[in-house]
Amino acid sequence: MKALDSLTESFDEEKRGRILSLAKKYQLTDSQLLELLKNEADLELWQEKSTLDILDYQLIDSRQGKRKAEELMKEMRIYIDNLRYSPTDYSTFNPPKIIRAKSEEEVFTDDSIKLMGKCPCPVDGEKTRCCKLTTLDAVSQCAFGCSYCSVQSFYSKNRIGVVSNLSQRLSNIDTEGIWHIGTGQASDSLLLGDSHGTLTSLSEFATSHPNIVIELKSKSPRRDFMEKSFPRNMIFTWSLNAETIIKKEEHLTASLDERLESARIMADKKNLVGFHIHPMVYFKGWQDEYRKVVEKITKTFSPDELCQISFGTLTFTKAVLQHLRTHRTPSRVLCMPLVEAAGKYSYTLEIKREMFSTIYSYFPKEFKEKVFFYLCMEDPSLWKTCLGREYSCDKEFEEDMKKHYLDKIRASSSSRV
Ligand code: SF4
Repeated sequence: MKALDSLTESFDEEKRGRILSLAKKYQLTDSQLLELLKNEADLELWQEKSTLDILDYQLIDSRQGKRKAEELMKEMRIYIDNLRYSPTDYSTFNPPKIIRAKSEEEVFTDDSIKLMGKCPCPVDGEKTRCCKLTTLDAVSQCAFGCSYCSVQSFYSKNRIGVVSNLSQRLSNIDTEGIWHIGTGQASDSLLLGDSHGTLTSLSEFATSHPNIVIELKSKSPRRDFMEKSFPRNMIFTWSLNAETIIKKEEHLTASLDERLESARIMADKKNLVGFHIHPMVYFKGWQDEYRKVVEKITKTFSPDELCQISFGTLTFTKAVLQHLRTHRTPSRVLCMPLVEAAGKYSYTLEIKREMFSTIYSYFPKEFKEKVFFYLCMEDPSLWKTCLGREYSCDKEFEEDMKKHYLDKIRASSSSRV
């Protein structure tokens, strides 16, 4: 009953007392109490009214025996599901003021970091369509504060680990079967810029392995590394989101315009760039705001400059849900159905289908023809309806992605002066 205990302890004394006396009065089972605690934690996170204040106690008390608890649970579910299944309303949400003083941050050498890994998609299942990305963790933990991020629950806060001997460790890796390496899994790829030589080491590795694509993924405002030149098989990508989500959930990160300006600078230097519109959030006004993101992309870049654009949504593991619910930094990212999806919790397929097909429809034909669009870690059944194409297995997806990336790199190489 670890989850039940830690959740119970996470409430202040007054709230805890109210919940526990309610549970006692109506003889809630442990699983009913756990559900109530999770929902109460979520309501606090969302800055919404507590269930305890909206229940119809007269009606509950009019029921007999176990029916009292059933009525209570029914009322709670109606209230919370109404919030979970509607587009999230951010107009009534005040984001927390997150200040992270540089002085509190400790960047330390961590050569115990396991350098290479695999995309955390379920193994070769039919549950998600996976590109089989190889991951490289040269930096672990992040100084930004995206409220949905799993990285912050893995590592200790304010301690950012950096591999010191990256060039040497990279020279020892077995590259057999590796063609695509992503560095944005355990931190933001550009969080530390090149202050610790990470980008220089990656650049040297990419130069000596022209058939391997190194993909950096970022929301960082840093630009001090941009005076360097990088090999064309190093692709610079930025995660983009609707302005509301950036302002309310992606704390301390660069604004949408700053991210696009950074990408523009790199594209001007003839580096291939890409975007991850991820995680898309189902909120009031999402269509308009995501349309604006697409307009900004298509006005700022030609499709020849872009390698890829991916779409994805919010997905949480049990461990991250538990972390968010016990730490309770205000956020509305959990204001969603949280249906089971490949061992994690996410939106329903209907909501995903609506979001992905809508955003894809905003892109002009020329972008659809020349840029590699894909769904990141999503159910294979979504592809055909949302992107108009699908793959029969992960291998086919990976091969197609590889072909597109390498063709684009070759084309950008020949256009370089
Ligand atoms: S920038 Fe990336 S790694 Fe950093 S907190 Fe946000 S999602 Fe996590």
